[in-house]
Amino acid sequence: MKLLRIYLRVLGLLGNVRRVAWILAISNLAIASTQFAEPILFGKVIDSLTSKPGSWAALAPLLAAWVAFGLFNIVASTLIALHSDRLAHRQRYYVLRDYFQHILQLPASYHGDIHSGRLMKIMLQGTDSLWSMWVNFFRDHLASLVMFFILLPLSLFLNWRLGVMLILLTALFAVLTWFVIRKTDALQARVEEHFSELAERASDTLGNVALVHSFVRVDAEVHGLKNVIDKLLAAQIPVLSWWAVISVLTRAATTITILSIISVGAWLNFQGLATVGEIVTFMGFAGMLIDKLQSTLHFVNGVFYDAPRLKEFFDVLDTVPTVRDRPGALDPGRMKGEVEFRGVTFSYDQRMPAVENLSFVARPGETIALVGPTGAGKSTALALLHRTFDPQGGAILVDGTDIRDLRLSALRRNIGVVFQEGLLFNRSIAENLQIGKPDAGVDELRLAAQRAQALDFIEDGRHGFDSRVGERGRLLSGGERQRLAIARAFLKDAPILILDEATSALDARTETRLLAALDEVMKGRTTFVIAHRLATVRRADRILMFDKGHIVESGSFDELIALNGRFAELARAQFLAPERKPDDPGPQAAAGA
Ligand code: ADP
Repeated sequence: MKLLRIYLRVLGLLGNVRRVAWILAISNLAIASTQFAEPILFGKVIDSLTSKPGSWAALAPLLAAWVAFGLFNIVASTLIALHSDRLAHRQRYYVLRDYFQHILQLPASYHGDIHSGRLMKIMLQGTDSLWSMWVNFFRDHLASLVMFFILLPLSLFLNWRLGVMLILLTALFAVLTWFVIRKTDALQARVEEHFSELAERASDTLGNVALVHSFVRVDAEVHGLKNVIDKLLAAQIPVLSWWAVISVLTRAATTITILSIISVGAWLNFQGLATVGEIVTFMGFAGMLIDKLQSTLHFVNGVFYDAPRLKEFFDVLDTVPTVRDRPGALDPGRMKGEVEFRGVTFSYDQRMPAVENLSFVARPGETIALVGPTGAGKSTALALLHRTFDPQGGAILVDGTDIRDLRLSALRRNIGVVFQEGLLFNRSIAENLQIGKPDAGVDELRLAAQRAQALDFIEDGRHGFDSRVGERGRLLSGGERQRLAIARAFLKDAPILILDEATSALDARTETRLLAALDEVMKGRTTFVIAHRLATVRRADRILMFDKGHIVESGSFDELIALNGRFAELARAQFLAPERKPDDPGPQAAAGA
């Protein structure tokens, strides 16, 4: 059964605190077992009172036992509740941390397919569900189990006629509950799916507030969200109706059970087959049973409600990163930076290759420019170099070693990447730079910023290196973000560098500074640059002209121009178009530094 499997897995996550969990569970069982004492004692007190002549001698031990059980119960339950709550809380955040670590290790292809908003929702709700299940397990679930497995047989032992009746009523109730669960199982899964969609959509919209404003889309986005909410409610309402049925049944069961015990009990009493005390004990049992049935129902309802969330949570946890360390992978330390692509083929969809049979060598310190139309495979080739994906054919070698034989962390430590968008965390400038070198001091940060032509704007800012950059660096201009990204690459100081040149036009001054910064950072590193500027291709040691996933031409700028082939054609169209005059800031100057 699916629910049971999920439940067992939830309990399995307590593995690292097994000992405490067992102690709590066993203590809980002990408490649950003592709870039967109360109705039995009550019955005995009644029988003692109704027997003639009554005496304190018979009554006192019963009352003393009652006091002892009561005290034990109060103290033990408080201790267990306290400790189980603490345990569940701690465990929840440990699991959350593990989930976070796990999703960060999942490859870019996975994050491309699943929205971050959805991953966040799965993380928060999944750990919430885990927490509530653990707490209830310690507080309630075990006690309920004990109740059914001890109370029902015990009732047979005390008075089998009344016992059989109690068992039949319980069975009837259980069957009805089961029926409702079967009815609502698939519906609840659909509710959860809509819920994830809701989280994804809201987060997607929030991440694109500028777009929402500029295209006056507030109403449209709210409307879009409302559609998801409508679908969610349409799926949720039938589930709620079914659970309302169950709640009515529970109430009815209470009345039916009590009435049955009084009537059958009275009849048995008239026949001399049950004492008044036994009837009172059974009334107590029935009360407890109904109480437990309700909490079991609540629990089943909870498991059932949480199951789809937990399934989503476990599905993410079970995703195995496609790119990971081989057993015995090496960490060669700092590498020289010779890169060789040997017949590399890769396809995203296993059908159309994005790059096919790529072969080239870059010697340490060389600058290789990748050019070609969009969709030609340039980014894919470089993504393969830092193992965002692994190729389906051929191999990539760094210093003669297949990169799949290197530790992933070792490989990535040897490659600096300056992304086109200059990715930044919503933290201070200093913290963003220190990503390149966590132990970099103020002087080092200043030097890197200076070499990346970023020091002026940083120091002009109100809080200097402590200024926050906003979500995704929104408080900075495109040119500033890029220069910070370059400063970060300086600090990382890796022998291989991947640059994705910004396509957006910058004003002439910013562009000059950016090129100077790039020149500086490329020195002494094997650099691969997806080039969009004439200056970059001119300065490259070699140009690789990509088309439809293949390298169609390769050579220096002058060689390729002389060849008068595809590159020469592209160069005439893209690079050799009339260049802007230095004092013309270009159409997107406002977006520049
Ligand atoms: P370039 O960098 O030259 O513009 P890309 O390497 O981005 O080219 O793309 C090469 C091909 O792979 C294109 O057909 C593109 O649509 C496809 N592609 C790129 N990224 C993905 C992805 N994440 N999933 C599926 N296909 C992709």
